[in-house]
Amino acid sequence: MDAVSRSSALFAEARRLIPGGVNSPVRAFRGVGGEPFFVDRAEGGRIWDVDGIEYVDFVGTWGPAILGHAPQVVREAISTTAQRGVSFGISNPLEVEMARTIVGWVPSIQKVRMVNSGTEATMSCIRLARGYTGRDLIVKFEGCYHGHVDALLVKAGSGALTHGQPDSAGVPASVAALTLTLPYNDFEALRAVFASRGAEIAAVIVEPVPANAGLYLPRPGYLELMRELCSAHETVLIFDEVMTGFRLAKGGYQERCGITPDLTALGKVIGGGLPVGAFGGREAIMDQLSPDGPVYQAGTLSGNPLAMAAGLAQLREMERLNGWQRLEEIGANFEAGVRRTLKQIGKNYNFRRIGSMFCLYFTEGDVWDLASAQHSDKGLFGRFFHGCRERGVYFAPSQFEAGFLCVAHNEVDLEKTERVTAEVLAGLS
Ligand SMILES: *Cc1c(COP(=O)(O)O)cnc(C)c1O
Repeated sequence: MDAVSRSSALFAEARRLIPGGVNSPVRAFRGVGGEPFFVDRAEGGRIWDVDGIEYVDFVGTWGPAILGHAPQVVREAISTTAQRGVSFGISNPLEVEMARTIVGWVPSIQKVRMVNSGTEATMSCIRLARGYTGRDLIVKFEGCYHGHVDALLVKAGSGALTHGQPDSAGVPASVAALTLTLPYNDFEALRAVFASRGAEIAAVIVEPVPANAGLYLPRPGYLELMRELCSAHETVLIFDEVMTGFRLAKGGYQERCGITPDLTALGKVIGGGLPVGAFGGREAIMDQLSPDGPVYQAGTLSGNPLAMAAGLAQLREMERLNGWQRLEEIGANFEAGVRRTLKQIGKNYNFRRIGSMFCLYFTEGDVWDLASAQHSDKGLFGRFFHGCRERGVYFAPSQFEAGFLCVAHNEVDLEKTERVTAEVLAGLS
C-alpha cells in the first residue's frame, strides 16, 4: 500500500481522535496486522475504498447487508420516510408493522420490543429473564458473543478473542461471577450444571449456530437437550439470533431446527443497515416489561421510523425474491469453489458453511467448539487475509469471524474469489 494513501492519512488522524482509530475494535486489523482501509462507497457485493480500490466484500457490514450493499428498495424506503420526519419519540405505524412481521415470521415470538443494537437486545433479555424467574445466574458458552454486555463478556469470542482478552477490564468480578460458562457442544457439562445449580439459573443464552469464533454447528441433540433441561428447571432459554435471524431462514435458525426458545434476541439483518435490534418471545415473559410489568427497559430512538422503514423494506424484498433459497444456491456454489481449491492445493482445511454463513479454519482437525477452533493457524490466516485483500477480495480481518454471502454476489464475484483464493492459498504452503 502507498504510504501516502488516503486511507493511511485518515487512519493516522483517526488514531489521534478515536481510541485505536476505530469505533469497533475488530476494524483495527489487530488480528491480522497492517492498516485498515476507509470505505468510500458500497453497492451490491462490492465495496470501494477511498483510494478507489474495489473489493468483493464478504463482511457485508457484519451481517446486515443480506441483499447486498445499499439495495434500491432500502434507499427508497429511507428517503421516502424521511420526507415526513426522521424521529418522533411518539409511536408511529411502522413500529406496529415491524412487530406484526416479526411475530408472523419468528416461530417463538408472541410479543416483541424494538431496541437499537444486538447488545441492547441481549442485555434486555438477560434482565427480563432474571426479573421473570427471580434468579441471578446466567449460563453462556465459550466462544459465543452476545454483544458488550457486562454479564456476557466472559469467554466471548470474536473481537475479544482476536485481541487476546477474553474478559474485559471494567467488568466487576461480582458481576462475572453470576455467569457460568460451559464449552459448547458438551452434553455432560450442560447436564452437570443443571444437576448442581438448576434452581438458581435464570437463563441459558446461546448462539444456536455459534458464529463469533469462526463458525461451527450444534451437534445433533444438543439444542434439544438444552431445551429439555431449561423446561425441566423453569429456566428461560434465550436464542441469540442477532446473526442468524432472518438470515438462515425467514424465521431464523429456530425455524430450521424446530426448537422453540423462550426469548430471542435479534439485530443485524432486521435493520437493513440502520441501527436496530429487537427481542421477543413468550407473552407471559414479555408482559413483565415496563410499563405493564416491573422490568424496566426503554429507548429514546427505539422504533425509529427510518430504521423501521429500512428494515421492513429489506425483509419484504427478501420475501419477494425468496432470498433464503437464493442464498442456499449461492452458498452451495461458493462452497463448491472452496472445495475445488482445497483439493487443488492438497489441503484438508476445515471449511464450515450453513446457508450464507461460512468460515475457513486453517486446521485439518474437526471444529465443534472454541478449543478446536483455536487450533487454526492464525499466522496462515493473516497471510491469507492480506493476500486476498491485495487482490481485491475482502474477508473479515479475523479468523474468528464468520463470512457472509449476500443475494447480490454474482457469478463474476464468485469466479474472481475462487481464482484469488486459489492463488493465495497455493502461495502459502
Ligand atoms: C453482532 C452480535 C451481537 C451484538 O450486536 P451489536 O449490534 O453489535 O450490539 C450480539 N449477538 C450476536 C450473536 C452477534 O453476532
